[in-house]
Amino acid sequence: MEKLTNRVCEMLAKYESNGMFQSELWKKLKLSSRDGSRLALKLERTGIINREKLLEKGRWTYKLILKKTPISTQSIENAPCLICPVEQKCSLDGEISPRTCQWIDEWVTADLKKPKVSQ
Ligand code: SF4
Repeated sequence: MEKLTNRVCEMLAKYESNGMFQSELWKKLKLSSRDGSRLALKLERTGIINREKLLEKGRWTYKLILKKTPISTQSIENAPCLICPVEQKCSLDGEISPRTCQWIDEWVTADLKKPKVSQ
């Protein structure tokens, strides 16, 4: 059940606040609409998703929206601060500062040169 919940969260996270039609999600997860609806109700009760009732092609259905989008750690991958030997002495207004840090500068520059992969 936890694995299925994680998969639902991963899929819904891609749609952010736009949400996803539940029928679309059930198809991707190969769930029957009965099992899918039960799961959606459960996720709503536990506060993981919101269900928004909508009229789609003349039929009532639900859009499922993840309440909290998980934060990706991708943006801080390889950040020099994570392994910095002088991190304790670093502050915005200090002598050692991210404003003048060469490691930060190199890291940001290297990241900007990376080809962007669309999701
Ligand atoms: S900004 Fe530079 S000096 Fe400061 S913690 Fe990060 S890597 Fe270290």
